[in-house]
Amino acid sequence: MRYSGLRVIKEALTGHKGWKAAWRDPEPQPSYDYVIIGGGGHGLATAYYLAKQFGKKRIAVIEKGWIGGGNVGRNTTIIRSNYLLDGNEPFYEFSLKLWEGLEQDLNYNAMVSQRGILNLIHSDPQRDAFVRRGNAMILNGADAELLSADQIRAEYPFLNFNDARFPIKGGLAQRRGGTVRHDAVAWGYARGADSHGVDIIQNCEVTGFRIEDGVCKGVETSRGFIGAGKVAACVAGSSGRLMAKAGMRLPIESHVLQAFVSEGLKPVLPGVITYGAGHFYCSQSDKGGLVFGGDLDGYNSYAQRGNLPVVEDVCESGMSLIPAMGRARLLRMWGGIMDMSMDGSPIIDRTHIEGLYFNGGWCYGGFKATPASGFVYAHLLATDTPHDTATAYRFDRFRRGYMIDEKGMGAQPNLH
Ligand SMILES: Cc1cc2nc3c(=O)[nH]c(=O)nc-3n(C[C@H](O)[C@H](O)[C@H](O)COP(=O)(O)OP(=O)(O)OC[C@H]3O[C@@H](n4cnc5c(N)ncnc54)[C@H](O)[C@@H]3O)c2cc1C
Repeated sequence: MRYSGLRVIKEALTGHKGWKAAWRDPEPQPSYDYVIIGGGGHGLATAYYLAKQFGKKRIAVIEKGWIGGGNVGRNTTIIRSNYLLDGNEPFYEFSLKLWEGLEQDLNYNAMVSQRGILNLIHSDPQRDAFVRRGNAMILNGADAELLSADQIRAEYPFLNFNDARFPIKGGLAQRRGGTVRHDAVAWGYARGADSHGVDIIQNCEVTGFRIEDGVCKGVETSRGFIGAGKVAACVAGSSGRLMAKAGMRLPIESHVLQAFVSEGLKPVLPGVITYGAGHFYCSQSDKGGLVFGGDLDGYNSYAQRGNLPVVEDVCESGMSLIPAMGRARLLRMWGGIMDMSMDGSPIIDRTHIEGLYFNGGWCYGGFKATPASGFVYAHLLATDTPHDTATAYRFDRFRRGYMIDEKGMGAQPNLH
């Protein structure tokens, strides 16, 4: 069924009797050519591009809970491609270009809003670093703009400019960055994949792998064995736990990351802002709530909820940047499990077990990567070669010492 304005009018006039379920609820088949583990944004996007772009059939997405229940529905919805390093920038710019055409491609309103992202500058050395990053972005075909404090004041008058320990001295803007309604991304990809024949199997946990003579033959699940030509793991925060079932120990730790939303306010923040003197970022949702977040909780965990010291820490950063925030009531907070790699960058690669593939290590930034991650993972599964924009995201970079440490701050998840 195609969605359109005319369809909405027709359904409104006929009692909304014609709408169909956006995707089927099939029983698992005994085997598939491709089994993708994890029905988050990345797993669903992988299935969609595998079917649509690469013409593959007999594909299943196996999800232990429900579509959108993981990080894809828990993140702070920010998209951008403002990276410095060669291994990263082309990949994230590819992703941003896919976001720009996504709604037409999926025939689904994901509320892609290119309202811009602004990284604030608080010192002269930081300005130098941001100028360098902006130049790297432009060289890779992205957009970047250096703004003065006065230009920022005109757009964001509510920020704490001078009466602060770290006054705002300027900013690096990417106007094409912005936000996307996160759970609509899961639903849009699920609907698109289903329309190309992908079976989306919810409430089905992968409990083990059947590996014979070094070849992965399929997955054991809570609903029985499912055979597979290729198995593609894509479970974000559960990566370590899942791959341990195949005997693999990953260079990834799982940590909690919290997010917060205030009560609805009149428009105060036109775009996304990030604080350069602490870890704090904020945007305003279409309903008016300030959506914000900051640091990881700082201890390894598989729990999807965080602790109070981080609430205090994030709110302190928020208050030092936007003092008026102190008058707003906090509406909700929640947590998601982050798959933190040791250099802050992802891994999309084959494993040493034939037929078993891995996608994970997304750290704070996997939502913006969703379309490109799905596309390049589908490319790897379909062709057994990495996509041009993902050649750096291999397991062996940790053995060879070719880290992609975007901030150059060391091999600790809390520093990325
Ligand atoms: C609070 C918070 C804020 C964030 N903000 C941003 C942001 O602003 N911008 C950005 O780019 N990124 C952000 N991220 C990161 C981003 O959300 C993640 O990196 C990304 O969503 C991970 O990929 P995914 O969508 O596939 O993960 P998920 O949605 O977590 O999908 C993984 C799925 O695998 C399933 N699964 C796990 N184990 C099994 C199993 N054994 N069998 C079957 N299924 C299994 C899970 O149930 C889950 O549905 C944020 C994350 C959090 C938690």
